[in-house]
Amino acid sequence: MITLTGKKVSEGIAVGKLSFYKRDAREVRRIYVKDVEKEIQRFLKARQKAVTELKMLYDTAAKEVGDANAAIFEMQQMILEDQEFVDSVNSIIVEEKLNAEYAIQMVAEKYITGEISKEINLAQGHEIDVKDVASRVLRILSRSWKDKMLMDEPFILAAGELYPSEAVQLDKSKVLGFVTRYGTINSHTAVLARTKGIPSVIGLGEALKKDYDGKTIIVDGYEGKIYIEPDYTTLTKMKQKQDANVTQVKSLERLKGKENVTQSGQKIDVCANIGSREDIESVIRSDAGGIGLFRSEFLYMENGVKLPTEEQQFQVYKLAAESMGIKKVVIRTADLGGEKRADCLDVGKEMNPSMGMRGIRISLEKEEVFKTQLRAILRASVYGNISIMFPMITAMEEVTKARIILEAAKRELKAEKTPFDPEIAVGVMIETPAAVMISGELAREVDFFSIGTNDLTQFTLGMDRQNAKLGKYYNTRHSALLKMIRIIANNVHLEGKKISICGDLAADLDLTEFFIQIGIDELSVAPNQVLALRKKIREIQ
Ligand code: PEP
Ligand code: MG
Repeated sequence: MITLTGKKVSEGIAVGKLSFYKRDAREVRRIYVKDVEKEIQRFLKARQKAVTELKMLYDTAAKEVGDANAAIFEMQQMILEDQEFVDSVNSIIVEEKLNAEYAIQMVAEKYITGEISKEINLAQGHEIDVKDVASRVLRILSRSWKDKMLMDEPFILAAGELYPSEAVQLDKSKVLGFVTRYGTINSHTAVLARTKGIPSVIGLGEALKKDYDGKTIIVDGYEGKIYIEPDYTTLTKMKQKQDANVTQVKSLERLKGKENVTQSGQKIDVCANIGSREDIESVIRSDAGGIGLFRSEFLYMENGVKLPTEEQQFQVYKLAAESMGIKKVVIRTADLGGEKRADCLDVGKEMNPSMGMRGIRISLEKEEVFKTQLRAILRASVYGNISIMFPMITAMEEVTKARIILEAAKRELKAEKTPFDPEIAVGVMIETPAAVMISGELAREVDFFSIGTNDLTQFTLGMDRQNAKLGKYYNTRHSALLKMIRIIANNVHLEGKKISICGDLAADLDLTEFFIQIGIDELSVAPNQVLALRKKIREIQ
């Protein structure tokens, strides 16, 4: 048995076979195939899918950056449609009986060196494009997350690092747990793991070897440890721990339907955070008072190269509203940017993405995309108790501009005679020090507030929440942060408005009493943290 120690991200015990996620094209292996015809079909299908993706990318880019700049995607399509490219891949598969991935890699290399396709000279000066095309087809071939999750037995996922756009697609019924070499406990991937309640340990370093692929492992999300090929004693111990956890979860069930009230009668609302349609069910099971934060950007991140349509978004928001009945549903408009990259909304390369094009800044730049989302939210507002929240606010002008676009969306719907709630509440996230300092002014303009402590911590401390090296300095309970929370609460209450906390700090049970003392109105946490928080509140004097 091998024991590795990393950082705990999401509690729970998972036991299963380890499966390494292959994202990197450099990992292509040379494999003999028996059924060459099947292999050719695999290649042709993947190639066709890549062509379709590139066509869509071309259309989006042409609209946003003009035909000339979009031409690169056309050029990439030409590579895939070049008969010599196709024939060369096919002949390696047939003649050498090798897998499609390996054949593509070899042909791409020949293209770059000019060994093939000399006449049309497509590849000259376009080495990056050839590599890009090859890795696109390889990615498609490497069985998408969804395929893998549909076909395989439940497994424990291993990766160097897992991006948020990948983490959001994890199907809890198939991915029993995940472990990574790198990453931080404050990243969005970690947030997603907690939201979905998937036991996970990250930052295991190079000790997490590829050789462990296929081996049985235990993930101990309580201790931040993993056990590879566990011995009988460890397996038994962990099973007992798992059972104890099940018992504890069951004992919390008795708190369902009970109030979030302290012994002395102080009340606070407890809501849940979600990131996708699949999470709605866990909110209902958690008995939360509503959805305090719907991270809508994940709808964009899981939609590939195409923007989610108004109808697509409407259906998800409507489902959330209907499922929650009279309970509130706070939909945060897309907070893309930083590590939350979506293929459908490229903001370009940035030196410092977490301080770059993010949240409301993107929405105000891409007005039509923003209006589409607002229309979808407004349309869904008649099916329940929906409100809108804007992320990453730093100035009053941003709120003013966002409201102008919201009004435009309302006017359009009115003209179309489409019903919506004209009085829909509008709130903002307080997650930048600038927003803290102007929270008094903001409180005169908007209906409610939610503190995003994850970002507020990184911007207050000036430390990237993604940088694993900063772990020991990253103090989420820093007194500066707690003072800020107190200031915000005062400013907001002076205007008679409500304040919630939806960042991870809301689930820090050592701070629950402090939050109640300073009058925080609501805490919004991952669905599986709701009842433990209720228990804590009810124990406070
Ligand atoms: C936060 O910053 O605390 C927050 C809730 O937003 P996110 O974690 O999605 O950035
Ligand atoms: Mg945030």
